[in-house]
Amino acid sequence: MSDLKTKLGGGLNILQDSVQQGKQKLQTAQEISQYRKLVQENSERRANLLLQLGEQTSQKIRTGELKDLQLRDYVLKIAELDRQIFQTQSALEQLNRKSDSWACSKCGSQIGVDDKFCGSCGQQQEPIATGNDTVETAVCPTCEEQVPAQGNFCACCGSRLVL
Ligand SMILES: [Zn+2]
Ligand SMILES: [Zn+2]
Repeated sequence: MSDLKTKLGGGLNILQDSVQQGKQKLQTAQEISQYRKLVQENSERRANLLLQLGEQTSQKIRTGELKDLQLRDYVLKIAELDRQIFQTQSALEQLNRKSDSWACSKCGSQIGVDDKFCGSCGQQQEPIATGNDTVETAVCPTCEEQVPAQGNFCACCGSRLVL
């Protein structure tokens, strides 16, 4: 009888032990994921700060406010990418405009935004004021791209436009 009690008691202890172990494992797993999250969050913050530092530094180097031959190499590469991005975006905008369509004012057929006449009924179309045609442009002194003159900053490289 006492033998059984001991066995039962032992079994209970083992059960409690394994429950305890399970709890500890869970706690460890939670701690691991907390630490991982913390590392990830701080890495993101760091990357953001580096990005801001890079933007500001490259701007200062572009304008000559800061002189550093080593950093200048980076800045030249960034400037080249800025230009490529700007040109690709401009081309994209034009393609988007071409693929845009609207309904004919007379028959409702879909026609291209640049079409002067409706292909279905021949109705002459009023040119739509998209604003794009009337935008004044200026040549940015920093990147030498032709950019919209409104606003204080170059749409290509982000330099302050002196107008
Ligand atoms: Zn029509
Ligand atoms: Zn520019």
